[in-house]
Amino acid sequence: MSLYIDDISPGVTTLGPGNRIGLWLQGCTLRCPGCMSPELFERKESCRQKVREVFRQLLAYAPDHTGLTISGGEPFQQAPALKKLLLLVQEYTSLDILIYSGYTLAELQRGPAEVAAVLPLVDVLIAGRYRRDLPTSKPWLGSRNQILHLLSRRAQMDKKYKNAIPRDLPSLEVRVKENNKLDLIGIPRPGDRARFRDLLLQRGIELKK
Ligand code: SF4
Repeated sequence: MSLYIDDISPGVTTLGPGNRIGLWLQGCTLRCPGCMSPELFERKESCRQKVREVFRQLLAYAPDHTGLTISGGEPFQQAPALKKLLLLVQEYTSLDILIYSGYTLAELQRGPAEVAAVLPLVDVLIAGRYRRDLPTSKPWLGSRNQILHLLSRRAQMDKKYKNAIPRDLPSLEVRVKENNKLDLIGIPRPGDRARFRDLLLQRGIELKK
């Protein structure tokens, strides 16, 4: 069984509490206007990896991390392989599992059985379409309509989720990768991209997209 993945990144601090591994999956048919990751709408055959291979990479990072954040793309559009991956993560690591989904919790619960079967393996679900007309300063949410669901007992007991204060948390990380590409990791607030572009331009760097 395989997953279409875009990237695995260690040390993510903007998509959930603690020090997290970020896993980005490819493919999303929901197409929210203003989506931050339109390059992940399509799946690429060259990016298909066996679930065990994806897990092997996560396992290597796991000892230095508190959680795994899965985003996309729409993770639940690869539900069977996602379930297989989460079973391995649960069995062999202590990472808490946070998933971003464009679907609401109700949509997932009444969806196909293979989709609903993933939910018991998830600690935290951030659910709902991205709405650029509904900005929010709540930690980790992209827009005001989205809901953070603490699904597991572990998440409900975790003060880092309940007591999170937006101003204490970074919302966006910028990373320069080996190939000189920039990765923006986190939730840009309205105007962040334009401000970032202007700051770079002042230093003689032009962003191509
Ligand atoms: S569900 Fe997520 S990945 Fe899909 S279009 Fe909406 S914001 Fe983008």
